[in-house]
Amino acid sequence: MLTSELATLKTAIKQMSRKTRKDRFTFLNYFRPSIFLKGYGDFDPFLLKINKIKLFICDLDNTLVPHFTFRPTKTAVDFVNGIKQMGIKFYIVSNNRKSRVKRFCQYIQPDGYVSFAMKPRINKIKKLMKKLNVSPEETLMMGDQFVIDIFAANRIGCKSILVLPLVEQEKNKSSRFVNFLDKQIYSRLERNNLLIGTKNVDNDTKLL
Ligand SMILES: [Mg+2]
Repeated sequence: MLTSELATLKTAIKQMSRKTRKDRFTFLNYFRPSIFLKGYGDFDPFLLKINKIKLFICDLDNTLVPHFTFRPTKTAVDFVNGIKQMGIKFYIVSNNRKSRVKRFCQYIQPDGYVSFAMKPRINKIKKLMKKLNVSPEETLMMGDQFVIDIFAANRIGCKSILVLPLVEQEKNKSSRFVNFLDKQIYSRLERNNLLIGTKNVDNDTKLL
């Protein structure tokens, strides 16, 4: 994480520790996804069409498949195809190394991929959006981590889907920290009724 992200996180955490309800919501809005799903299998891509989405940015590890899985499952392939069939560009944007991302993408054939994206940094994502000439309103990001994927999406101003991680993260020091924050954020969003699941979403729902 770079200085700018850390500064934003620090401000957000400061706001969290304050007592007023309004401030807590300001903090939580950095991490609030447009929709919360247990798994992407529940998702109807038609909703993307209604919301005029042109670019779908998808995280790879623990979102589409577990981080140790090199080949996509049938559910993952069907999900990607469902989105592409709607005429929406599908990109994998992952913090993982090129060899892992490239190998996986051979099987699902996305419109493209970005490896070593350094999320929650947003430079590479913004560069991709510029290349494809899409606005934040026309972009949706899906991922399994509030602090990485949803934080990036909300700073860009695009829509987002949070899915529950498919398996536990790898147990290195930095991911333990991210997991800890993620769990805190999840319980606060849930407690304040700020997570919108598919049950509350119809096919014509306008996403935040
Ligand atoms: Mg992930």
